[in-house]
Amino acid sequence: MPYEVQSQCRSCGNGDVFVIGQWTAHLGVHVCRQSRMLLNVPVETGACPGCGECPPADALYDYSFAVPYLGGQTIRELEAGPVCPKCEGASLTFNTTTHLNMGVVVHDVERARATWGRDYLEKAIFMNSSIPVIEEFQLDAEQVFDYFHLHLPTGPIATKRISFPILLDIRTHLWMLRQRDPNRFARAHRGPAPDGGLTQRQVRRRRE
Ligand SMILES: [Zn+2]
Ligand SMILES: [Zn+2]
Repeated sequence: MPYEVQSQCRSCGNGDVFVIGQWTAHLGVHVCRQSRMLLNVPVETGACPGCGECPPADALYDYSFAVPYLGGQTIRELEAGPVCPKCEGASLTFNTTTHLNMGVVVHDVERARATWGRDYLEKAIFMNSSIPVIEEFQLDAEQVFDYFHLHLPTGPIATKRISFPILLDIRTHLWMLRQRDPNRFARAHRGPAPDGGLTQRQVRRRRE
């Protein structure tokens, strides 16, 4: 589910490679004006690998509307990226180059659990991007969150935005699990419905 993304400056032509979607390892993406790089801030230290300082939460860059899917696909007009940290001459554009195996997130149980109680940008983007999939397939959110080792957020979330590439990846992954087991993540029937839980067709059949 994570992807490697390449940034590119229209002015100087330079860029950096960073990862999106690997919330068990990264707090988010940071445009470091000191080291002149765009990079991932690790969850463990919270420190920028470029300059060693810990950027405040609001200094992380919300890439949700600026990074397209592989091949540049997008469902909305892409937002302009941040100003190039290398030359400060133009805003960056992004190209999603590589799809990394979802296992690096799904099997990263210990690090995922270590983040429980902490809400940060990369995790918020991932969580937000799972919601439309949960709704589309009518899944039980609790089971899906449990599968990804996500806890429910305890405070205000860092962003309300959804990342299209991350949404697509979650969708493909959950869809494949459901192909193997159609009842996976199914919503439980919570108590009898007003008609006793029967569908219209069953009601009709009963009357016949
Ligand atoms: Zn530049
Ligand atoms: Zn830095």
